[in-house]
Amino acid sequence: MSGETALLTFGIGPVHSFIAQARRVADVWAGSHLLSHLIRQAMRTAREQGGEMVFPFLGPEEHIPAGVPNRFVCRVPAERATEIAKDMEEAVRTTWDGIVKTAVWNVLRYHGLFPSPELWSEEPQPGRLRQTDALLDFAWSWVPESEGYARASIEGARRFAASRWFRPFEPAEALWEKCAICGERTALPNGIRDHVQAAWVAAEAKAKDTTLARYFRIDQGRLCLVCAAKRLYTDTEKQKGNFLALDRFQPSDEEPYLALVKMDGDRMGGILSLPRTAVQDDNLEAFHKTVSRALLDFAAEIRKDGSVDLDVETLGYVPRGQGPQLIYAGGDDVLFVCDPRDALPLVKILRERYVKAFDKARELLLKEEDRERFTISAGILFAHSSHPAGLLLRDLEEILEVGAKARAGRDAVALSLAKRSGAPEEAAFQWSDGKAPEGGWIAALDQIVEQLRKGEISSRQTFTLRLEERTLQKVFEDDLERWRLWLADRLSRNEAAEGQAGDLAAAIAPFFLHDHAAALRIARFLGREAER
Ligand SMILES: [Zn+2]
Repeated sequence: MSGETALLTFGIGPVHSFIAQARRVADVWAGSHLLSHLIRQAMRTAREQGGEMVFPFLGPEEHIPAGVPNRFVCRVPAERATEIAKDMEEAVRTTWDGIVKTAVWNVLRYHGLFPSPELWSEEPQPGRLRQTDALLDFAWSWVPESEGYARASIEGARRFAASRWFRPFEPAEALWEKCAICGERTALPNGIRDHVQAAWVAAEAKAKDTTLARYFRIDQGRLCLVCAAKRLYTDTEKQKGNFLALDRFQPSDEEPYLALVKMDGDRMGGILSLPRTAVQDDNLEAFHKTVSRALLDFAAEIRKDGSVDLDVETLGYVPRGQGPQLIYAGGDDVLFVCDPRDALPLVKILRERYVKAFDKARELLLKEEDRERFTISAGILFAHSSHPAGLLLRDLEEILEVGAKARAGRDAVALSLAKRSGAPEEAAFQWSDGKAPEGGWIAALDQIVEQLRKGEISSRQTFTLRLEERTLQKVFEDDLERWRLWLADRLSRNEAAEGQAGDLAAAIAPFFLHDHAAALRIARFLGREAER
């Protein structure tokens, strides 16, 4: 690029409500897929205008991957930076507008759900915001590279963090019947309660026995135009197979439980804002490229093109339940849904892959303590599939942020089992915990799950000894041997198979000793109740 260049950071939000306003797991995927699609339009526009992708780093001809983070950095001619950013914003708006129009004209109109003029019109009306206009926030900022990449990169991150998100004012729609998914916007076609109900019942009847039936189920119906367009986008974009694949994780008598798993790189922001003096040859740009390449490779490895299957073959894993489905993989984030019994082993494999992906990047760092920053934390939520997916996602984010990151101190995995009644069971483990049994906590826990599954343990009381657990913790304190003997005695009476009480006691004693007994109750659930 000739002439002065600038680093332009561009982002679309609000990520959280965009994805978490969802009733079904498939809606979470649809929202996430759509957000990636919109971000890709902005990236394409930047390239068409002569920009280069800096983070994620992509070569000029390189294909933009399916999962992309909701913000990115590109290099553009400084004199046109503002103009290019505005064009990117416009490209995203136009794409979203097109998706809405397709949903309205190709589907909703035929099902008696054409939006009333108060909610939406084909073209924007002066002084009136359409329901779909207020969905997207944009933020962007740029910094000239006149003093080099390193300075512009660090100043760019600072400036972007301080930049305001441009969001149109959303009109209050207080009086009207609300959408069943977002609960915020007025339901189609016009928000008048009787009309809304009648229209959705009629639409469901009309869609029955057609390929659109899944999109119109009335128990989940009564949608606003935004939520309807998001869901229908997967149909109009020929992604229906993927929507239906994810929809397999919805309530059924045979498979009432699912596991939702989110993994997120620890300290990625801190890693990317290291000063150039922390890296080899002061070459911050080379370091950022290497980190970006590692992230792209990590995500590409677990994703299958055009499919929502998590690529278990590449991971060398054979699922115990139905195939895990990838909701999102991009940047340092992974979100997937799977059979409860597959969550622990998958998280262990993915964490190993993640750490290994940064082998090259680690070599570029001068200080040992910086090299240890490339860790990833995970949250796993075991829940009944009848819970609204958006609420599950919110709980999962809390498990990850509070359980694994804040409480367990990152480089950790936090588990939560939410049954239909009673308080959730929660446990968290650090991957590098020196007190863990050989092979680590997660492997040890999974081993116990397997033993339960094969019936080698009868799992009656020992796994639910809340009261004894607390009393004995004071008595036995940190004496592993006393725990082991006590548990062996207890198990030998009626729970373990003949002659196995000793081995089993040795396996579970560390969980009692280190106050992780709740994990055993989760193991019991995984080995017994999740097993059919
Ligand atoms: Zn809605």
